[in-house]
Amino acid sequence: MKAIRLIQPGRPLELQQLPMPTVGPQDVLVRVQAAGICHSDAHYRAGRSLVRPLPLTLGHEVAGTVERVGAEVSRFKASDRVCLHYLATCGECDYCRHGNEQFCPSAAMMGKYRDGGYAEFVVMPARSVFPLPDEIPFEQGAIMMCSSATSLHALRKARMREGDSVAVFGVGGLGLSAIQLAQVIGARAIFAVDIKPGKLAWAKRLGAVPVNAAAAEPVEEIMRLTKGRGVDVALELIGLPATMRQAVRCLAIQGRAALAGITEKTFEVAPYLEVLNKEAEIIGVSDHLAQELPQLLDWAQRGALDLSGVITRTLPLDARAVNAALDGLEQFREEGRMVIRP
Ligand SMILES: [Zn+2]
Ligand SMILES: [Zn+2]
Repeated sequence: MKAIRLIQPGRPLELQQLPMPTVGPQDVLVRVQAAGICHSDAHYRAGRSLVRPLPLTLGHEVAGTVERVGAEVSRFKASDRVCLHYLATCGECDYCRHGNEQFCPSAAMMGKYRDGGYAEFVVMPARSVFPLPDEIPFEQGAIMMCSSATSLHALRKARMREGDSVAVFGVGGLGLSAIQLAQVIGARAIFAVDIKPGKLAWAKRLGAVPVNAAAAEPVEEIMRLTKGRGVDVALELIGLPATMRQAVRCLAIQGRAALAGITEKTFEVAPYLEVLNKEAEIIGVSDHLAQELPQLLDWAQRGALDLSGVITRTLPLDARAVNAALDGLEQFREEGRMVIRP
């Protein structure tokens, strides 16, 4: 089969011919119909995040059809439409048994620590495979498995409830999903903070109030728009100390700031004024959980989560096209999401 693989960090991905993956008794072999190209993949190619063992097939956002199932798998049969949770986990440790499988010591992320979906076929354990309803196109099913799932996890970690006001810092793939999901949950108001007019216009079309951080100090702006109250939930989806600080500062009494953007830098808070005095909470968000995917798929099936406008381009399974797409992400030239259709 054909696969587009990272051979060496810092170099373009290459197309290789590989034997078909082996299918264990609890595995499902999936014919890839759509694989999302994620900003993380650009980091992996550049060597900014560890990928091993090399060479490795990238691609952690995958939807497809079942090609073959292992001897012990009864939940799926050939030609079923499916999408894949990107973690392969043991299913038996304490973390797995309590639904916190993102901390499973043997968890291996597809497209980072095991071969992923930039290929004609990919194999995953059946517990990481979910039925994809007919109403959801493969492209949308694929990208839902990463950014939308993480946005939902962030909103759940922040304990967002119906009637809450929400601020979303960063209107990228995560942010656009977060806005739609906050709508579904029943947000009273959603403030979308970014500096790019195109992204702010997109957020506005989805029903959010755009806050242009290039034109005004966003915390002051959110305080003005909420008549000095602040928001119940703030999501930081960028990974910058400045926006993390803003996410904390714009909170209302007992507000929750969920931080999902990745940075190794530190940020400051004024403990008394910004956290203790109003019982604010700062919450870490790591990935998402398999158990959250059915909810996400259900909302998408009912049209409450619609990613059709987010996908700007589809590409063939071709190394040159994929490398060019990753170049675009590196240089922040791409505003929407790109998906490989092998
Ligand atoms: Zn991703
Ligand atoms: Zn485990």
